[in-house]
Amino acid sequence: MAPAKDLTHFLSEESKRRQPSPLKTAFKYFGQPDLIFLGGGLPLSDYFPFNKITVESPAPPFENGIGYAPKEGEAITKTEVLKQKIEDFDVPLSRSLQYGHTGGQPEFLKFVKEHTELFHKPPYDDWDVLATVGNTQAWDAVLRTFCNEGDSILVEQYTFPSSMEAAKSQAVKFIPIPVDAEGILPEKLDEQLAKLEKSQLPKLLYTIPTGHNPTGSSLNKERKQAIYKLSQKYDFLIIEDEPYYFLQMETYTPDASKRDNAPKGKEEFVNALEPSFLSMDVDGRVLRLDSLSKVLAPGTRIGWIVGQPALLMKFFRLHEVSIQNPCGFSSSIVTGLLSRWGNDGYLNWLMGLRAEYTIKRDVAIDAIAASFPKEIIEYVPPVAGMFFTVFIDAARHPKFSTEFDSDPLKVENAIFESSMKKGALMIPGSWFEIAHSFPEKALSNEVDSKIFFRGTYAAVPLDQLKLGLERFGSALKEEFGL
Ligand code: PMP
Repeated sequence: MAPAKDLTHFLSEESKRRQPSPLKTAFKYFGQPDLIFLGGGLPLSDYFPFNKITVESPAPPFENGIGYAPKEGEAITKTEVLKQKIEDFDVPLSRSLQYGHTGGQPEFLKFVKEHTELFHKPPYDDWDVLATVGNTQAWDAVLRTFCNEGDSILVEQYTFPSSMEAAKSQAVKFIPIPVDAEGILPEKLDEQLAKLEKSQLPKLLYTIPTGHNPTGSSLNKERKQAIYKLSQKYDFLIIEDEPYYFLQMETYTPDASKRDNAPKGKEEFVNALEPSFLSMDVDGRVLRLDSLSKVLAPGTRIGWIVGQPALLMKFFRLHEVSIQNPCGFSSSIVTGLLSRWGNDGYLNWLMGLRAEYTIKRDVAIDAIAASFPKEIIEYVPPVAGMFFTVFIDAARHPKFSTEFDSDPLKVENAIFESSMKKGALMIPGSWFEIAHSFPEKALSNEVDSKIFFRGTYAAVPLDQLKLGLERFGSALKEEFGL
């Protein structure tokens, strides 16, 4: 395999200005035998009032499901991390709670590298990983590392608002890409890019390829390959924001008696996952943002970026003077747990997640099928993630051309208010829509009468999920006089 291409021409002015902090360079000598280190403001770990952390977790293979709380005497995984190192794979508290290791603790990075090799096999030589505080922070770091004010970025037409707020604060320009139920349409992306002037060409594509937030769509391999080719043709980076990658599910089968949710073998599980952009990245132009938020817990605040070393080094420089490193407790606990489970046990956990989310998705889609008015809605059962969308033809509203001035957004608002009165909240699609920064270059100005609402099956128990959807369906029926 070849090494990554030199893509340092993408770096922002801010990033180019970043130099190693001279003090931080001295830290590499810390711990060297025969050297008395009088160089840094490191408190002695003897004074850390944390001698031992013990965490009890469920144990692989999670036969009773991942939500099962083990009873007294049943198998558990006990993670015990001490101040000084005992197990090879543990991050001792004397180190994790100390300054240093900006790129992440070596034991954590080792686990993550093995995991990345297992699932993505990046096809270039020198790929590496760097710890983050989760994808929110990683995306902010991406913006700072590559974007100057006025640079353009490609985003899906509807996308995660918090990522866009971060981008707006950096004064970047947005080029929204048309999507359908399976995500980005590569041919539309090509058309869009062909229309841009050189100065408007994007530096990067921000995409949520799996279990998209908000649309629930997932990009398949063929589309990803076509998009990757475009990234080479027009020269831009691909940032894959992938918190939902392991929430890929079985496909939805409307007939409940024909559903096959029986556990699959490990190989079958791995092979059923959609290949990532990283897995096709021969140039080193993909930065994959991975997070444990949706697979372990959001409050772990730990994740990682996979990418080429020259670009990761710029993240390292930024982290040195901002986050420093992920939280020490989290580094020790998460690494301790994952190492005890091993990549094999972690695979069992991920398989358990797939089974749980398949059930939740099925309950949500069954409830939509049973209680939403079929005449005016469309939906595609998601194959990954936490979200589903229901498209509604606003033009079918009896007041569309009269009271609502043929404005789909007025219908959206009316549905939102009616469903709130009934006690069900789904998010209006327009809240996620991205305005084109070069409107004259937009593909079409046609007003579509389709609107959508986003819901999630992740956040509530199944009975609440069903009830909420029944309420929303009844609000729709009343609004549309059906
Ligand atoms: N990216 C997307 C697309 C998300 O939906 C979310 C969570 N809602 C995040 C990032 C946040 O991830 P993290 O907790 O890793 O910061």
